[in-house]
Amino acid sequence: MPEKKMHMKDYYDCNYLGSHHFEKGQEQIFTIAEVKKMEVFNQKTNSNSNKMIIHWKEKQLPWIVNVTNRDVIAKLYNSEFPDDWVGKTLYVTAVKVGREFKDAVRVKNFIPVTTLQKCDSCSAEIKPFKGFSLADHIEKTKQTYGKQLCTECATKLSQEKQSEKKSSYKPQGDE
Ligand SMILES: [Zn+2]
Repeated sequence: MPEKKMHMKDYYDCNYLGSHHFEKGQEQIFTIAEVKKMEVFNQKTNSNSNKMIIHWKEKQLPWIVNVTNRDVIAKLYNSEFPDDWVGKTLYVTAVKVGREFKDAVRVKNFIPVTTLQKCDSCSAEIKPFKGFSLADHIEKTKQTYGKQLCTECATKLSQEKQSEKKSSYKPQGDE
């Protein structure tokens, strides 16, 4: 990871994953290693309360799972028993929620494509593009080009298609 400036929130509590650990629009795929029940100190209420904590297989801070995210995970993996979630993967991202547009960590409500996805054209690893998730990106290139493509190849193909259109255009007359 490149050297980064320290976020103000990290001056207070850097024990858990927070929305400030994500770049704008960044989605990350994490694998659940363990789901624990833990007492966590809440600065706002100045007291301890029980929380669900997910630890990841990836080198990443553990995450305090709120009710919203908990329910999404339960639905995704069709189990209300967190032990069943171990080994499963999640798309995690930061979003704005509520009337105050507060940043919050959210799990997306679809199962991530976790195996390495290779471009059918150049065999490079396909990475998510702009606002699209990897799954969306692959779906789109399949629809448009009939195969899964990396961003570079998809761009190249779309340019070729455009220039083909131009060259097949035959001005009338002159013959
Ligand atoms: Zn490619």
